[in-house]
Amino acid sequence: MYSFAGIIINNESVQIDRLFTYRIPKELSTKLEVGYRVKVPFGKGNRATDGFVIELYESCDGINHIKDIQSICDDFPLLRDVDIRLMEIMRKKYFCTYIQCIKTLIPTGITRGVKSKILSKIYLGNELSGKYDKEPYKSIIDIVKNNDGSFTKSELSNSFKISISSINTLIKHEFLYSGQVAVNRFDTRDFQSYEKKTLNVHQKLAVDTILKSMKRKFLIHGVTGSGKTEIYMHLVSEMLNQGKQSIILVPEIALTPQMVERFKGRFGKDIAVFHSKLSDGERYDEWVRVKKGEVNVAVGARSAIFLPFKNLGLIVIDEEHEGSYKSDSDPKYNSREIADIRSELEGCKVLLGSATPSIETFFMCKQKEIELLTITDRADGAMMPKVELVDMREELLQNNKSIFSKKLYNAINQCLENKEQAILFLNRRGYSTFVSCRKCGYVFKCPNCDISLTYHNHGNNLTCHYCGVNQRVSSVCPSCGSKYVKYFGIGTEKIEEEVKKYFPSARVIRMDHDTTRGKNSYEKIYSTFKEREADILIGTQMVAKGLDFKDVTVVGVIAADLSLNLPDYRSAERTFQLITQVSGRAGRGQKNGKVIVQTYNPDNYAIRYSISNDYYKFYDEEISIRQGMNYPPFSKILCINMSSKNEKLLINSIQMASNYLKNYLKENSNIEMLGPCSCTIGKIKEQYRWQIIFKGNIDSEFCRNIKSSIYEILKEVYNDIRVSMDLNPSSLL
Ligand code: ADP
Ligand code: ZN
Ligand code: ZN
Repeated sequence: MYSFAGIIINNESVQIDRLFTYRIPKELSTKLEVGYRVKVPFGKGNRATDGFVIELYESCDGINHIKDIQSICDDFPLLRDVDIRLMEIMRKKYFCTYIQCIKTLIPTGITRGVKSKILSKIYLGNELSGKYDKEPYKSIIDIVKNNDGSFTKSELSNSFKISISSINTLIKHEFLYSGQVAVNRFDTRDFQSYEKKTLNVHQKLAVDTILKSMKRKFLIHGVTGSGKTEIYMHLVSEMLNQGKQSIILVPEIALTPQMVERFKGRFGKDIAVFHSKLSDGERYDEWVRVKKGEVNVAVGARSAIFLPFKNLGLIVIDEEHEGSYKSDSDPKYNSREIADIRSELEGCKVLLGSATPSIETFFMCKQKEIELLTITDRADGAMMPKVELVDMREELLQNNKSIFSKKLYNAINQCLENKEQAILFLNRRGYSTFVSCRKCGYVFKCPNCDISLTYHNHGNNLTCHYCGVNQRVSSVCPSCGSKYVKYFGIGTEKIEEEVKKYFPSARVIRMDHDTTRGKNSYEKIYSTFKEREADILIGTQMVAKGLDFKDVTVVGVIAADLSLNLPDYRSAERTFQLITQVSGRAGRGQKNGKVIVQTYNPDNYAIRYSISNDYYKFYDEEISIRQGMNYPPFSKILCINMSSKNEKLLINSIQMASNYLKNYLKENSNIEMLGPCSCTIGKIKEQYRWQIIFKGNIDSEFCRNIKSSIYEILKEVYNDIRVSMDLNPSSLL
C-alpha cells in the first residue's frame, strides 16, 4: 500500500519545477494511481491547487510537514506511464518544465475546469411498481415511453405542456427516472463515402514494404498527386485489422475539409479530428474518445502527436517538410521528433510523406536512417503540369507595369474561356506591405514592434502583422508634413482588386489569414471553389497545400522571390517547396495543367529546379551549401533569445551572458558563437529582442550547461528579462 505521492504542481514558475511529496489519505489510497490529477494544498496559504501524481512511495523519510492530498479530480488517470516517460524525455530535450510538458499531453482547458457536458434526461422508470396510483399521469408516462431519454425535464415540460411538479412526483414514485448522459461536442455529421481505390503498383509496393519491413521509419517521396493519401488509408485499414490505432498528422492549414472528408468518408465518422479552431469543450470530448478507446484513428495538426492511444501502430506525418510541425512556444517540440520517441517507446511505425522532403529528412534517407520509397508518377494517370518561368524584369522593359505578365494574363483568359479554374498564389496578405513618405523616406512602423505596417484596404487600416495593432491611414507624413505618402509592395488584397479589374466577369475568392478567421470560413471558401461557384482562388500558402481540385488548369505564382529574401539558411529550401507545392495544384484531372512562375531572380537555383521539378538536383546543390557553411543537418543551431521592455538592461545582460559564454566556448572548438546582436525583428509587442546563436556539434550536455549558466548569471534580473532557448528553431527572425 502506498502512503505518499510525488506530485507536480500546476504552476509555471521555474522554481517549482520538481516533485513535491504529499501524504495519501486512507480514503483515497485504494483508488489513487500514478497519472491522476488531484487537488492539493499548496504554498503558504495552502490554496487548493491542481497537481499530477507522478510517483508513489511506501514511506518517506526526512521530509517534515507533509500535507495531505485533498481529493482526486477525475474518474480516470490523465497520464499513462508512457506519457510520464515521454514527459521526462521532453523536459530534457526541450529545456522546459514538467508542467509545460503535461499541459501539452492533456487537452487545454482541463485545468481550467473543462469537462464532459452532462445533461439529465428523463427515462421511463418502473411502471409496474404498483404501490402508487399512476392513473392521473397515465398520458405523461406515454409521452416519455415514446421519447425515452430524449428530453431533459424542462424540455419535456416546455414541449408537452407538462408541469415540472408532475414530473417530479413521477420521479419520486419511480415511474420515471432522471439519468445523466454526456453530450457529444464533436462533429457527428455523416460524410459522403470515399471509396477504397485499387492501389497502383507504386502504391502497393510502398504499402507492402512498410508492412513487411523490420524497420520502423519511412519516407514516401511522391510527386504531388501521386496518391500518398490512399497509401496512408490502406495502412490505417491494415492497422485496424491488427487491432491497432493510427495518428495522421497534417499541417494546420491543410487540415482542410478535404482530408477530413476523405478519412470520415472512408472510415466512418468515428475518427477523431483535432485542429486549432476547436473549442476547449470539443477538444476535450475528442480527447476523451481517444483516451477511452472509442476511436482508432485520429487526424490532426501538430499537437495530435500526443494522443493517448493504447496500442498505437502507425504515425503518419503528411507534408513532413512543413515548418508548422515545430512548436515555437514551450515545450518547443517538433512532432517529427516526438513521433520518433513514441516509436521507440511504443513500437509504432512512422511514415513521413512529401513531394518536397525537408533537406534533413532526405539526408537521413541517404544515411539509411530512414527507408526511402519513391513515386514519380501521378496516381490517376494525370500528367505533371507544364511549368513556365517569366522574368518580370523583361516585362518591365516591355512596358508592362501590371502585376500580370503577358503569359499569365493570357493563360488566365484562356482558362476562363474554357470554363476551367485558376489559383493565384502570393505569400503575403494585405493590400500594400509598406507605406512611406517619398519626400523624407519616413516609413509607417508599428509603435510596439520593429516592423512596417501593412495597409489593408478592407477597413482602410494600417495593421501590424505581429501584434495586430490598427492605425488610421494618414495622408500626411507625420515626420515632414508632406503629402507624398505612397503605398508600396503588393499583398493578396491587391491581387484580388487587380483580378477584378482585368477579369471583370470572373468570380473571385480569396483565402488568407484575414478571410479565414471565423470557425467555418475556411470550409466555406473551400466548398465554394470545389462546387465551382468561383473561377479564381487567390491566396497565401494556404492554397499551396494538399488541395485536390480537378478543374484547376492554371496556377500563377505572382512573385516567387518573396520567400527567397528572408535572412534564414532555409530560405532557398522554403522557396523550392512552396513553388513545387503550389504548382502541384494544377492539372490534377483529365485536363493538362499549366503553371506560370513570375520572378525577378530567374537564375536562382531554388527557382530553376522547382520549375524543372528536379528535387534531386536541388537537394545536391543545397546539401553542398549546407556542408560548406556547416548548417544543419551537418550541425545543430541553438538560438538563445532574450527579450525585455527595458532595452538597456537587456543589452547589458546579454553582453554579460555572452562574455561568460565566450570563455566557456574556448574549450569547445567545434561550436561557433554568433552575436549577441539585435534580432532581425528588433522589437515585438514592446519587447526588445536580442539573440545569441550557437552553431556546431551541440549536444544536450552543452545545452544544459548553457541553460544553467545563463540562469545563474541573470538571477538578479530574471523577472525583467525573458530567456528562451530553442534547438534548431523554425525561424531565426
Ligand atoms: P498526393 O497526396 O500524393 O498529392 P492524392 O492522395 O491527393 O495525392 O491523390 C491524387 C489523386 O489521385 C486523388 O484524386 C486520388 O483520389 C487519386 N488516386 C489516388 N490513388 C489512386 C488509385 N490507386 N487509383 C485511382 N486514383 C487514385
Ligand atoms: Zn516625410
Ligand atoms: Zn506590432
